[in-house]
Amino acid sequence: MPTTLVWLRNDLRLSDHAALTHAAERGCVVPVFIWAPDEEGDWPPGGAHRWWLQASLQVLDASLREHGSRMILRSGPSLKALIDLASSTGADQVAWHTRVAPHLRERDVEVRNGLAREGLETRQFAGRILHDPDAIQTGSGGPYKVFTPFWKKFQAQVHMSDPLDIPELANTAPETWPEGATLDDFDLSPMEQDGVDWADGMRETWVPGEAGALERLDAFIEESLIDYEAQRNVPADHGTSWLSPHLHWGEVSPRTVWVRVNGWVQNGAMRDEADKFLSEIAWREFSYHVLHHFPATPTAPLKDKYAAFPWRDDSDGLEAWTRGQTGYPIVDAGMRQLWAIGWMHNRVRMIVASFLTKDLLVPWQEGARWFWDTLCGADLANNTMGWQWASGSGADAQPFFRIFNPISQGEKHDPDGAYVRRWIPELADLPNKWIHKPWAAPDNVLAEAGVELGTTYPHPIVDHSEARARALDVLKSVNS
Ligand code: FAD
Repeated sequence: MPTTLVWLRNDLRLSDHAALTHAAERGCVVPVFIWAPDEEGDWPPGGAHRWWLQASLQVLDASLREHGSRMILRSGPSLKALIDLASSTGADQVAWHTRVAPHLRERDVEVRNGLAREGLETRQFAGRILHDPDAIQTGSGGPYKVFTPFWKKFQAQVHMSDPLDIPELANTAPETWPEGATLDDFDLSPMEQDGVDWADGMRETWVPGEAGALERLDAFIEESLIDYEAQRNVPADHGTSWLSPHLHWGEVSPRTVWVRVNGWVQNGAMRDEADKFLSEIAWREFSYHVLHHFPATPTAPLKDKYAAFPWRDDSDGLEAWTRGQTGYPIVDAGMRQLWAIGWMHNRVRMIVASFLTKDLLVPWQEGARWFWDTLCGADLANNTMGWQWASGSGADAQPFFRIFNPISQGEKHDPDGAYVRRWIPELADLPNKWIHKPWAAPDNVLAEAGVELGTTYPHPIVDHSEARARALDVLKSVNS
């Protein structure tokens, strides 16, 4: 029987897995994951990523074993690991999903050529995203830089087939399983800091792996999709799907999400709600489209004029921001949520990004790097899109002069302060009126709530009105 190595990457699932299905149809299957962080260029997995990866690989190996297979772990270099494994298993082909990551393009080409030199066939499958970024083009034949026309073209052009079932793996094991590394060899656990295990909050919040992803998807469809449009901007609620890390790691395919959400509509519920949610999945597609066509954007602004933007070097401000100590409760709550559970609500991501890049004038790349290290679902395409959107320099971006007011944003989206109270316990006893601006509260109110500004909670590190005026002045200098 021909033997296929299935090179697992960001596709840590069994269902709707084209490479695995193809391999199972051919004969013997040897699933392999290769730990090669130094092949990821400037974007090796951050701390939260590593935690998730470790858990997800464990789950995937257990699922493969339940189906009569298993996962072999190897350390990089990837090409060498694949050639060694092919030689010890007699494999004649290697199959994988394309990752749509410009920084890996060269590596993947090298691997493909290197395998060909050894006489090994390769098969690559799509599945990371729903569209082919080279096939969707503007009328003049180029890539899209604006979401709405992209979305219209996407809807007209992309036809969704049903997701693939889990392939039959029971009789696909090789005669003998080759040796592999163990997860401990990869040292993926995050470090303890000051005696505190950083992963505690992540462990309590998430169930990495395919089953956890599908359970979350189903729960979202049953409980929250109907209110998605209204609730998606309320950070205290569970109004969004929380699928981003699962989608990032490929524990559920975007096609499965798409088809299940549409299935819910056909069961008699509302089309508009589903479309609103699917348009967010389409933002993910758009992010990948832009990253594919503009591979420099993870570090360079898409709009040239921002290349010379006079950002400030403000290491104190940056540190206060990362630690959730800016003195603006909605910003600090978001940054603490991120640190605690490796995820932050989208509305708050926009607020904290605006604060960093506009109130503090710290380069968006610094924020993107911090998110990269702390988000379980840090995703080069979506993170780049989010940061360039917030700083005004990206595709279809929020103009730089639109500066979020952290007080009114807090009052609008967290009117009873539930989100702030959850993440900033030292402010929990402040009345609603002051929860988003504790510095304005009368002394007796602060005393009654046990808040001592400058001691239990910081004074604002900048005055928002002054910071706003400063940012607009800087913008003038860029536009002049
Ligand atoms: P839902 O609202 O349930 O949306 C479902 C899915 O659609 C998400 O899981 C995600 O895959 C996709 N999606 C939703 N909003 C967006 C968007 N604006 N852009 C692209 N895709 C979107 N998302 C990431 O997955 N990884 C990142 O590293 C990331 N960094 C961001 C940084 C900034 C500064 C900003 C403003 C946004 C960022 N986003 C990122 C996009 C968005 O905030 C998250 O995808 C979303 O908050 C995840 O929560 P959810 O799964 O509950 O989203």
